Amino acid sequence: MQNEVDLILFNGVIHTIDEKNSIVDAVAVKDSKISAVGTNEEIKRLKTEKTKLFDLEGKTVLPGFIDTHTHLMFTGKSLMGIDLTSAKSIQDIKDLLKEKAKDTPKGDWIFGFFMNEFELEEKREPYKEELDEVTSDHYVVLYHTSLHCVSANTRAFEFLNLSPNIDGIDKYKDSTPTGVIRDPAITEVHKKLVDIVDEQKKIQALKIASEHALKKGITTVHALEDGDLAPGEAKFVMDHQNNVKLRIIIFPQIMNVKEVQELGLPRIGGCILADGALENHTAALFEPYSDTIDDRGTLYYSKDIMERFILEAHKAGLQIAFHAIGERAIDQILTAYEKALQKYPREDHRHRIEHFEFPTWNQIDRAAKAKVILTMNPGFIVHSYGPDMKLMTKLLGKTRIKRFHPYKQVLDANILVSGGSDSPCSPMDPLGGICYLVIHPIKDNRINVLDAVKMFTINAAKTAFEEKEKGSIEVGKLADFVVLDKDPFKIKPEEIINVQVLATIVGGEIVYSKG
Ligand SMILES: [Zn+2]
Repeated sequence: MQNEVDLILFNGVIHTIDEKNSIVDAVAVKDSKISAVGTNEEIKRLKTEKTKLFDLEGKTVLPGFIDTHTHLMFTGKSLMGIDLTSAKSIQDIKDLLKEKAKDTPKGDWIFGFFMNEFELEEKREPYKEELDEVTSDHYVVLYHTSLHCVSANTRAFEFLNLSPNIDGIDKYKDSTPTGVIRDPAITEVHKKLVDIVDEQKKIQALKIASEHALKKGITTVHALEDGDLAPGEAKFVMDHQNNVKLRIIIFPQIMNVKEVQELGLPRIGGCILADGALENHTAALFEPYSDTIDDRGTLYYSKDIMERFILEAHKAGLQIAFHAIGERAIDQILTAYEKALQKYPREDHRHRIEHFEFPTWNQIDRAAKAKVILTMNPGFIVHSYGPDMKLMTKLLGKTRIKRFHPYKQVLDANILVSGGSDSPCSPMDPLGGICYLVIHPIKDNRINVLDAVKMFTINAAKTAFEEKEKGSIEVGKLADFVVLDKDPFKIKPEEIINVQVLATIVGGEIVYSKG
């Protein structure tokens, strides 16, 4: 029969996130799409013999979450390696490495992630001799949380065979290398490690990362792939995305417009770095970092290169995304967007700035005027910088810090802003992100629960021109939902991070369900 409904979810508190923020009891799904929403009575009337029923038992449903900034392949690879987040000393790192080495065949590579020297007793990264004490039978590379630094054991360090004259190779007093490698030498490391991970491992990484996202209630991610860290991986994800249930929007982190057009993608960029990161003093500021005399961070591209690239990509009709954290980098990109738009006006371009962690108030107005959209990362606030803002206050000082992660001001300026995790830099966890937006340590920058939810649903859909298919629970849209054990609108804001995902539904199919 033509009108047969495949699935009915009923007896729930379904926040549709439509224009009126309607709440309904039930929703019907047919051919992977939402065919009706309404009261239990209205929707149950559509039931036929073939219809599956999902009794929500009073639980909460939201549109499936969309994380607009992930590095999906890297997330998968990091989930396959050692998680160093819990390490409080170099001994802890050695213990974790020892565990992993036990069940890794000799001669294989072992990667560790989320090393953070601030958290370690020694306040430094481990040296190669310290890692050798655990294993010389494996190649060991441990990545700093920022991915801008690694510690290698001797075996891996020798494999890397870096030319001794490049900057960024840490040395002992006697000029021999410690095994710690930073910017700019790190680029060489990334290049040399590209082929270490074979096709089978890559397929596994994509699968693991996708399953991890679904578990967190995410039904779509924007996967920012390729670039120096992993050339060729945008194409790899394109070729293999049909093997996973997660929906994937690919951003190729490539500055070659022709190459992207050949891939057939309507968008370009991602975490192409206009500057670095605040905690490394590499985000580009107008005034020096408060804990330095004259360090204003680093712009990674000249004005000319940046403006030429943005003009070319804009002219080609692509949507552009660029990483900019500090004011000086934001200024460079905004200026390039403004110039390109003046030369070739385009309605609804939706060019993006990623992160936008530390803008000036004036830059918020400029972004609004140019209709530039933002992808911001509330997960960073607590995950990367700690709940007390100590590190940020040290870096930016008491006055400037008011402009740190200014969500309220961005929304007040009517800018379209969505939420991304930048996974693996902070975990894929939209409920955590929503929580931090509402309990932001800087009170003036907080937003309400509804606006926070929108950043991971309808706003996120708009961020990839998908508002007709995703982002709210309305007839005709894809049947992507997340079922939660508690209603984020009805609990204390600080408890939102503990809300559990009970089920994730993609296109009417239950792709994750908790225990
Ligand atoms: Zn990123």
